[in-house]
Amino acid sequence: MRNKADAVIIGGGIIGMSVAYHLAKEKFGQILLLEKERLPGSGATAKAAGGIRAQFSTKVNIEMSMLSEKMFASFKDEIWNDALFDRVGYMFLLEQEKDIENFKRGYDLQKELGLNVEMLKGDDIRKLAPHYNLDNVRMATYCKDDGLGDPYEFMAGYESAARRAGVEIKYDTEVINIVVANDVIKSLKTKTGEISTPLIINCAGPQAKLIGQMAGVEIPVEPVKRQIVTTGELDFIEPFFPMVVNVKTGLYTHKESKGLLLGWADKNVESSFDISVDPDYTDNILERALNCIPGLETAEVGNQWAGLYEVTPDHHAIIGWEPELGGMFHVTGFSGHGFMQAPAAGLLTAELLTNKIPSIDISPLAPERFAKGALVDETNII
Ligand SMILES: Cc1cc2nc3c(=O)[nH]c(=O)nc-3n(C[C@H](O)[C@H](O)[C@H](O)COP(=O)(O)OP(=O)(O)OC[C@H]3O[C@@H](n4cnc5c(N)ncnc54)[C@H](O)[C@@H]3O)c2cc1C
Repeated sequence: MRNKADAVIIGGGIIGMSVAYHLAKEKFGQILLLEKERLPGSGATAKAAGGIRAQFSTKVNIEMSMLSEKMFASFKDEIWNDALFDRVGYMFLLEQEKDIENFKRGYDLQKELGLNVEMLKGDDIRKLAPHYNLDNVRMATYCKDDGLGDPYEFMAGYESAARRAGVEIKYDTEVINIVVANDVIKSLKTKTGEISTPLIINCAGPQAKLIGQMAGVEIPVEPVKRQIVTTGELDFIEPFFPMVVNVKTGLYTHKESKGLLLGWADKNVESSFDISVDPDYTDNILERALNCIPGLETAEVGNQWAGLYEVTPDHHAIIGWEPELGGMFHVTGFSGHGFMQAPAAGLLTAELLTNKIPSIDISPLAPERFAKGALVDETNII
């Protein structure tokens, strides 16, 4: 491994790989990516449900996802990889007045920004989710351009493209310390040696806060456990079945192999690095799922797992220079949307680091917002 690099990316998940590829494409210089695990994408990326949507409540999140959707759709041409963006659509089911009002506001903004989103009622909802219990559902928002993808496959596509573009990638290489002098990054340390660099890009996902702490800065990114359950084969799932989110219960479902993937965010889980599967969490998911989809009564549980969201106080990513320290750039804190926003995050990071005009305005994502109290809360979170 080299002992000097123009930039060191910490973290080999989908964000680190996307940043590596886009930066190398800009001919940034010698780029080294360090990942502590033996395989890429072993962190949150491997645990993601694969949802890709632009139906958010803030301009910056809508634009980040719209840009990413465009990039997912042209992935094969640009990255030479067959990872599939399956545009089955995303539907949010609304039961309560407060949610209807909130989603109508989101719908207006999404329309204004050019998203192909619709408000649906009655039979139009039933046609898309015929097996769903829709008794209390009053309305839905639906975007047929949203959909699903396999996070690991897209991550692997970026990994190969980054290598082809000259990035050196090292696995089983944990960053254990960062050396700072006069408030400027000098080098970082791994178990096998020290690497001097003027630039560290923090793509450590749920561990991003620990990377900041090694350099003496605080980044508000908390690891929070989320769980998923899949079912065995189901005969009532159509190939066009979209991602369906019941906003009141928080249950989300999409087709997974020949069955369904079921997920739900327990908002009472405390921040920790625990990723053991909690049987009570599983029961909570299954209980919600049975209420929403009566046909699941005879379904078998296929698989289940837990992973970590990387959550910020306003549920928006942090992309930008660390204000307290020279030479550290953060690309983290996606709060459960890091897979779907990874293409845009990589592109925008490369644009900012090479002093180009960014494709979209991501100033609301700058790390300074926390000290300034300029948070922009995302309300459409699952
Ligand atoms: C259950 C679940 C469902 C989800 N569903 C979706 C979804 O449907 N759609 C969506 O867009 N997002 C989803 N997400 C969120 C998504 O998985 C994350 O936002 C995304 O994977 C973040 O990518 P990352 O590269 O930042 O993090 P990671 O994939 O965690 O990568 C960070 C990497 O940094 C490495 N690292 C950490 N510390 C060090 C160190 N000191 N030295 C070297 N390497 C280090 C880690 O080993 C890890 O591989 C979900 C997450 C979970 C847990």
